[in-house]
Amino acid sequence: VNLSAGTAATVSVPKTNVIPVGVSNRHCHLTRESVDILFGPGYELNEYRPLYQPNQYAAKETVTILGPKLRAIEGVRILYPLRDYNQVEISKTDAYYLGVNPPIKDSGDHEGSVAVTLVGPKGSVYIEKGCILAGRHIHMHPDDAARFGVKDKDYVKLHVPGERAVTLERVLVRVNPGYKLECHLDTDDANSAGIYCGYEVELVK
Ligand SMILES: [Zn+2]
Repeated sequence: VNLSAGTAATVSVPKTNVIPVGVSNRHCHLTRESVDILFGPGYELNEYRPLYQPNQYAAKETVTILGPKLRAIEGVRILYPLRDYNQVEISKTDAYYLGVNPPIKDSGDHEGSVAVTLVGPKGSVYIEKGCILAGRHIHMHPDDAARFGVKDKDYVKLHVPGERAVTLERVLVRVNPGYKLECHLDTDDANSAGIYCGYEVELVK
C-alpha cells in the first residue's frame, strides 16, 4: 500500500524517509522451561505465519493471559524463537482489562515490569516479571541506519500521514545486520492514528 503517492509530475521521486509499519498485537516470548510447563516437556512450537523480521515466526500455539482481576485474554500468540526470559507484551487497553499497570519498556528490560499468569493446555506459569507495554521502535539494517543518518539506540520522531495524522515521539532505533526495516507499534498507537500493517510513516529528524 503506497499512501505517499502524489499526483504530480511524470517522474516519481521515491521517498527516502519512508518506513513500513508492523502493528504488534499482544504476544509473548517464552523460555524453553515455560513451553515445557504450558504445552508439555520437549514440546516444539509450530509455525503459524512468518514475521517480517528474518527467522522469526508467530506460532500456531497460543496462551491465555490472566491478571489479578481474574479476567482472561485468550489466543495470545507465542513468537518464535524462544528466549532466555519470558516477556508478555500487551497494550494499555489490555492492561486496563487485565487490571495490571505495566511500564513502557524496551524488549528485554524488565525493570518495574509486572506479573501475569499464562495458561496453556498442559499447565500454567506465573510470570513474576516480564509483562510490559512495548516501547515504539524501528528495526533497521545498518544500511538503512546509514541512509537515515541514525545509529543504534537513537530516538527519532515519526510522522504519520493520513486523516488522523500525528507525530510519534521517542521512537527507539535498533540496528542489527539481521533486521529488515520496519517500525513496530502496538495496537493502541496504531488504532489511534489509523495505522495498519504495511502503512508507511516518515522519519523526522
Ligand atoms: Zn520489534
